Amino acid sequence: IDPKSNANNEDEKKNNDGGVDGPISPAEKSLLQKIVRKGLVETTNELEIQRKNPSSPLFSIKTFEELHLKPALLEGIYAMGFNAPSKIQETALPTLLADPPQNMIAQSQSGTGKTAAFVLAALSRIDTSKSYPQVLCLSPTYELAIQTGEVAAKMSLYCPDIKIKYAVRGEEVSRGSKITEHMIIGTPGKVLDWSLKFRFFDLNKITVFVLDEADVMIATQGHQDQCIRIHKMLPRTCQMMFFSATYETEVMEFAEIIVSNPLIIRLLKEEETLDNIKQYYVKCKNTEEKYVAITNIYGVITIGQAIIFCHTRRTASWLAERMTKDGHTVGILSGDLTVEQRIAVLDRFREGIEKVLITTNVLARGIDVAQVTIVVNFDLPMDQNRKADCETYLHRIGRTGRFGKSGIAINLVDSPESMAVCKAIEQHFGKKIHYLDAEDADEIE
Ligand code: ADP
Repeated sequence: IDPKSNANNEDEKKNNDGGVDGPISPAEKSLLQKIVRKGLVETTNELEIQRKNPSSPLFSIKTFEELHLKPALLEGIYAMGFNAPSKIQETALPTLLADPPQNMIAQSQSGTGKTAAFVLAALSRIDTSKSYPQVLCLSPTYELAIQTGEVAAKMSLYCPDIKIKYAVRGEEVSRGSKITEHMIIGTPGKVLDWSLKFRFFDLNKITVFVLDEADVMIATQGHQDQCIRIHKMLPRTCQMMFFSATYETEVMEFAEIIVSNPLIIRLLKEEETLDNIKQYYVKCKNTEEKYVAITNIYGVITIGQAIIFCHTRRTASWLAERMTKDGHTVGILSGDLTVEQRIAVLDRFREGIEKVLITTNVLARGIDVAQVTIVVNFDLPMDQNRKADCETYLHRIGRTGRFGKSGIAINLVDSPESMAVCKAIEQHFGKKIHYLDAEDADEIE
């Protein structure tokens, strides 16, 4: 453990004791999204395709069979419960698997099947008769590398000859030896050390190079340069795959350095709406009454799964403690948990062990929990000036596209100030927030 980082943590705790959780880092957000999601994010949007090299044919497939994969790989895919390719996979996979290999830049929001696509393409190109690394996948953090490694392990379950090695902190290779595994998944710093400094493997023998989460990579100091240094050592024939959830100029400039002659595919993010959401507010006099309201609607909210948002960590932990004392099973997720603890909490929630998750804003931005049917705003979202934070409200409650299941939002209002916030939100979206008598939870449809 780094004593310095511990000291920082303590400082942070002192500074906003019990306070409002700040924004989370892009890497952390990406990780939480991966963990919290059960399946694909569905989309109705069309792919945008740009071809730098018009001579390369472009296919699209509707089944995995059409890809003529090794049977053991196909078996792995089906065992993971994938029946058909996702939207982005329909176009990405035939290109990624084509011969001669083609380069690709793909951008689509988290959850659309990018990881599964490149893992499949990479695995299918591995030649197990050669005992050295052929695939190199760079991830921005330890945790994200592990997530990708787990996908690769699952997909290659029926290909026991394929070996995978993590190049992340904590992993060791003995001096003077060579890595014999076929696929390396790691963070840029460790990969640089292992390849250039210790020569545990030869970058010149890599045939597939994946740069995953490029937008997160850029957001991490020093990572971009390290990636470029690694990239420079790769053979010119190496297939380059570049993935990002967003599409800023910075990301695209990075992509241009890494990938020549690419096929670029983009899947635009679907807008969040409140269209299928039934919104309510409950009038309470104080925090105590809010608590009573929660217990009154508990039976209804636990028919599905619910997230309860609180403004501060103090409120969140108070609520969690009190509900637990009263015999309810709840999980709590707040900014003072370590990454490991957050993963554990989210895993339990996703598995349905806890049907209620109490949280601060950590989860609110961009993280969609598809199975959540009810969102309770224990505190309405406000900005620093204590004005309605409509954007956060939409992120907490909104669903995307016509696939978005219907949901229920319940806002607990306990002061003229919070009533004003509620009204402002209602006005902003032009969608009625109905009055609900919490004593009579049957009113909830
Ligand atoms: P991304 O890398 O874009 O975030 P992932 O590849 O991690 O997306 O996929 C998101 C989720 O959808 C994962 O839980 C994954 O197992 C699942 N998934 C991916 N492809 C398919 C598919 N073709 N059919 C069903 N589920 C899929």
